[in-house]
Amino acid sequence: MTQILVILCFAAVHLRDEYAYASGLSPFTSGAITLAGLGLIWLSHLGAMALFGHRIDRTGSWRAVVAADRATLAANVCGAIWFATFVLVGGLLDGVRALVGDTILLDELLALLIPLAFLAAVWWSYEPIDRRLGEAALIRRLDEGGEVYLPQGRSAFVVRRLRHHVLLSGVPLTIIIGWSELIGWISHAWLSHWPPSAGEALRIAGVLAIFVVSPAIMRRVWGAKYLDGSGIAALVDDMRRLHKVRVRGPLLLPTGGTSVNAAILGVMWPFRYVLFSDALLEHLSPVHIEAVTAHEIAHVRRHHIPWLGALMLSIILLLGGMMGLVIDFWPVSLPAWLVEFTPEIAGMASLAIGALAFGYVSRRFEWQADAFAAAHVSRRAACDVVTPEGALALSDALDRVARLNHMPQDRFFFRHGSIRTRRRRLAALVGTPLDAMPIDQEVSRIKNAIGVMVLLLVVALALLTAVG
Ligand SMILES: [Zn+2]
Repeated sequence: MTQILVILCFAAVHLRDEYAYASGLSPFTSGAITLAGLGLIWLSHLGAMALFGHRIDRTGSWRAVVAADRATLAANVCGAIWFATFVLVGGLLDGVRALVGDTILLDELLALLIPLAFLAAVWWSYEPIDRRLGEAALIRRLDEGGEVYLPQGRSAFVVRRLRHHVLLSGVPLTIIIGWSELIGWISHAWLSHWPPSAGEALRIAGVLAIFVVSPAIMRRVWGAKYLDGSGIAALVDDMRRLHKVRVRGPLLLPTGGTSVNAAILGVMWPFRYVLFSDALLEHLSPVHIEAVTAHEIAHVRRHHIPWLGALMLSIILLLGGMMGLVIDFWPVSLPAWLVEFTPEIAGMASLAIGALAFGYVSRRFEWQADAFAAAHVSRRAACDVVTPEGALALSDALDRVARLNHMPQDRFFFRHGSIRTRRRRLAALVGTPLDAMPIDQEVSRIKNAIGVMVLLLVVALALLTAVG
């Protein structure tokens, strides 16, 4: 979710120039209102965290943890929307430009420091909740005689969150905005005799290239190192060959032992890596790591990221266009303000529906990757149905990951669903033939639907071009 909010803030700053709405507020007033609003949201969050923290201490209730999570999400969403609104219609970026001028990137980055500071402040007030969960896990591990690692402190928590959550999209987006401004400047200064479409094509090509190459940059930003010559490298090598996927790595992500995680970073070889955090390699057994790796490889093998991209693009453009048409051809006359803001309303509504569809599909892709991992472990035991061991390998790994990250199993994640649901679905797979998994059939129906939408979009664009 943090990624979506970071993208929203960057998009607002980037789109400001194309969206020339003047609110009439002075730079000082719009700056003051933006900061006052964010300050108020943060103070409410701080108060809520004190309240929920107290309730956790008193009752030990998971419900208070879930409530604290929701309050944090709500604060982040409200903060990002408040900031984006004041950039787009309140003249916040114009205010920053009045101070430092419209230089490449400087004004944008200065404006973006505001939501960055806000996110840091919200994590700072959330940290006591996370610390309580960590301490509960610590006591449990001491009781069970397991491994123990100590909490790292409040500012380390905030820095880690910023580094792993904000930079992931923040770094590529900063380069993309810089590139766009640079191209605008170059076409203005040197290429004025070129057709405008040439500059635009150059800009889009650069954005795509940055998107594809950014994992190689993030690898360095995070200080992730190749795990050459290790047992895990041999395992990844075998699985790469078995499932015919092209990914580089494995890479070791240093997190100071605080995060148990694995991921595929990037959309295209040779800029696509498989990545394991230090704590994951330390705490998971070989069979768990194999199941987790199979899950990650499934995302590549089943092309989940390109399909999600196609889904978002087609749904947002189709819905936005359709809503615009409906408002244009509405039989009764509409109020003037509604007509004036048609593009904004249609854009926002299609973005919201697109986001919901993204979550729905992303969770099914996650379940398909889980089933793939169960099938991988079962097939290795020469079975053609999912074995209890096959289902348990990933289910146990998820259980351990949740415990080590001190994450409630019922906590709902927008892209992944809850750990509880994933484990329940894995258990239900036992005995299912490997070539007739219900989730595979559901996903192929979803992919067909996305294919139809892409086709509709292509036809609509071709018609638009033909009409001129
Ligand atoms: Zn996944």
